[in-house]
Amino acid sequence: MRDWLRREPVVIMSGQGAVLRDVHGREYLDANSSIWTNLHGHNHPKLNAALHRQLRKIAHSSALGFANEPASLLAERLVRLANAERGVRSAESSGASSAVTPHSALHTPHFAKVFFSDDGSTAMEVALKLAYEFTRRTRGPKVKPRFLSLAGAYHGDTVGAVSLGHIDLFHKAYGGLLFKTDQVMSPYCYRCPFNRAKPERADARETRKCNWECVGKVEAKCAAARKQGNAHAAFVFEPRMQGAAGMIPQPEGWLRRVTDIARGHGALLVADEVMTGFGRTGVAADVRRRIPAADRNSPPPHVGGYESLFATHAEGVQPDFLALAKGLTGGYLPMAATLTTQRVFDAFLGEYEEFKTFFHGHSYTGNQLGAAAGLASLELLAGKASVTARARLDKVLRRELKSLWSLSNVGDVRQVGLVAGVELVRDWRTREPFALAERAGIRVCEAMARRGVLTRPIGNVAVLMPPYCTTTAQVRRMVGALREAVEEVFAK
Ligand code: PMP
Repeated sequence: MRDWLRREPVVIMSGQGAVLRDVHGREYLDANSSIWTNLHGHNHPKLNAALHRQLRKIAHSSALGFANEPASLLAERLVRLANAERGVRSAESSGASSAVTPHSALHTPHFAKVFFSDDGSTAMEVALKLAYEFTRRTRGPKVKPRFLSLAGAYHGDTVGAVSLGHIDLFHKAYGGLLFKTDQVMSPYCYRCPFNRAKPERADARETRKCNWECVGKVEAKCAAARKQGNAHAAFVFEPRMQGAAGMIPQPEGWLRRVTDIARGHGALLVADEVMTGFGRTGVAADVRRRIPAADRNSPPPHVGGYESLFATHAEGVQPDFLALAKGLTGGYLPMAATLTTQRVFDAFLGEYEEFKTFFHGHSYTGNQLGAAAGLASLELLAGKASVTARARLDKVLRRELKSLWSLSNVGDVRQVGLVAGVELVRDWRTREPFALAERAGIRVCEAMARRGVLTRPIGNVAVLMPPYCTTTAQVRRMVGALREAVEEVFAK
């Protein structure tokens, strides 16, 4: 932390669209959407207006035992959006993807309930506690529910969420505080021991040569737990891309395969879409492909249509729990939601004296300002302008990122929709990583900041995650700053 204390911090004063302005009047591009939260840009007139309207009524009243209008409406809309039956059916009937098997669709759970909290960590904490107690109530109180999560997982900084995580740098120190969870290999194609492909100047997912050994590992883990008489209560995952693990994307079809396996062994599915939710993993290439051709040019349906905003749906997966935060309010206010099914809800239903209630609640649960921002953000996301802007941004980002392959210190460029991770290495031919102490990612991001582009690395991975309003010229500046920064930092 000393390095941080030595530097003068950038003190942000204001923002407009994808631009942030500091106290000295200097402008920066917000290239990680203010730590992955912002969707539509800063100071958005529609979000501002929604908040002003709500402020004229009330800012906050307790949702413990009471309800309020914006939070109830938001819950209803989230449930509608997060139920993917229509998308799943479409994919099957159109035969759009071999990854979509009828087997899973038959077991599609249906979201019915929303539990609001404050941030991604608490959304995961709620899913964890609900899954734990639901398992005890359905399998018997003697059962000790066991959780399975992915290598490199990060699900937040509260103790329960940290227990689900497997990043030693963040989590090891707190080992004494944590409960044990099982971890299983996640598909990190670029550094996969089973990938027989030589390094290439292309995303390792596309060039990999393997036999889905990582899927076999999930099967083996689940089967072993079952054999020991304690099948996993839940399988916890980030869909399509693991964020804090280093922007690690999953090859197409992986998620569908492993969730089928986990569910087949009796595990509930807990999807952490704190980063990936609300359109972050793209609309055009992946989700739209699953829309029947005849419907493709119809105007984007309003919220609840099959222009899905969730990464799970792009793989035809419908989880039992869905954790949302970050972009839920468009990046305006801290608010989170955990969605689940009527079946889970009913396990906590009883007469007062039975004390079956889910005893969990935060002071700001269901906050009206956050909910008003959330409603306005969903409306923006459903608009044609947003769908078009996201599809364009996806394309422009893809085109601009290509130029990075010419740099010998760029090992892997991995993009999923509107998120990109660029892994920095000593030499792309050997894939040799920089030691963490060399601060390669930090130095590159500092050099980008000097060029007016702000982002934050994950170890040796530079992250680009622009707000959806980012223009083509601004994407060029972001990628250009990254390119120049890499050249400057690793100049021989
Ligand atoms: N889950 C994921 C996938 C995340 O990326 C994060 C935050 N980076 C969290 C959970 C925790 O969210 P928060 O920081 O809002 O507590």
